[in-house]
Amino acid sequence: MSKALISTFSGTLIAWHQLDGRQGLPWQGVRDPYAVWVSEIMLQQTQVATVLERYPRFMKRFPTVKKLAAAPVDDVLAEWAGLGYYSRARNLHVCAKQVVEQFSGIYPSDPLLLEQLKGIGRSTAGAIAAFAFHVRTPILDANVKRILARLFGIEEAIGEKKVSDRLWSLAQDLLPLNPKDMPIYTQALMDFGATWCTSRKPVCLSGVQKCPFSKECQANLSNQVLSIPRKAVKAKSPEFDCDMLLMRYQDLVLLQKRSDKAIWGGLWSLPESAWRAKTDGEMGTPNLTPKELLQLTLPEEHLPLLLKHCKAVSCGDRIKHVFTHRRLWMKIWHVNALTAIEFPNTNLRWVSLRQLGQYGLPQPIKVLLLGLSLVRDGELKN
Ligand code: SF4
Repeated sequence: MSKALISTFSGTLIAWHQLDGRQGLPWQGVRDPYAVWVSEIMLQQTQVATVLERYPRFMKRFPTVKKLAAAPVDDVLAEWAGLGYYSRARNLHVCAKQVVEQFSGIYPSDPLLLEQLKGIGRSTAGAIAAFAFHVRTPILDANVKRILARLFGIEEAIGEKKVSDRLWSLAQDLLPLNPKDMPIYTQALMDFGATWCTSRKPVCLSGVQKCPFSKECQANLSNQVLSIPRKAVKAKSPEFDCDMLLMRYQDLVLLQKRSDKAIWGGLWSLPESAWRAKTDGEMGTPNLTPKELLQLTLPEEHLPLLLKHCKAVSCGDRIKHVFTHRRLWMKIWHVNALTAIEFPNTNLRWVSLRQLGQYGLPQPIKVLLLGLSLVRDGELKN
């Protein structure tokens, strides 16, 4: 059975795509490897509807790999704000510089060379090579793993190395023989996983459409569609809390640039205390004097000056943010400053509320600042 499926799979899938695949997405039919690469990175962990809105904007602002490489990283992060997983934006910027410096601005077509570039994994390298250069090379993202695990009835957890090796090998075997078919085949595979062989409502169970593989699909034949692919059991996400300082002077708010290696690396956020493992009950520090708060969130050497120029500490919002592997509870402390205190040689900066739109901010912090009813999309409300 498997042999028959392997020989007919690509043709059946391409025929399916002509009738039922997604059409008209702005990155479809594109052969510019830069455009393919940006769309692939943006589509990782972001809904298609959001990418449809943000991709054209990103491409307008950074139309070529040379323009992206030459831009300040802060501009790239600001353009990426709201899309989450900011390491993607930082990696895009590093990768653009690598393409310019190591390949004179021309992307290599060899997936093995593409994989050497920052932020490009094996599957993304495959997608760029297939779409832009028609190379016969597979992709294996989460959707494709699900399709293959179901078709071939792979019951082991797909995170295991030997299972992953088998899936890559199957993905290679299933490729169409003609390199010209690589773009449509790769797009069809993505679309089939995203719209028909979905995680929770595959068409074979909903009965709305007839799956072209229903007679060969092992998971379907053995009534295991929803239990394949099996995932490794996940440990519960750890929870943390921290205190955050929302210090304002007139229409200025004090922001701090985060270290590249931290979560939300390279973005501008509110100064914060160290994260603590959260225990049950009250989150954040229950009561803080101004001195304690400033000691927790700002460099010690500025404390005497800060204490002279700060007034009215009050605790406002409590915000929870869920990351992929952890949860963070932020307790926001409001402080009014009597002057915009200088912080020379630090990563602290007073930013006008009117100019917040120019800064890459973590989504919950952006929402918080918008929620102050002072700013709308980075503009001061009248
Ligand atoms: S029969 Fe169901 S599980 Fe199998 S490939 Fe088709 S949609 Fe996916």
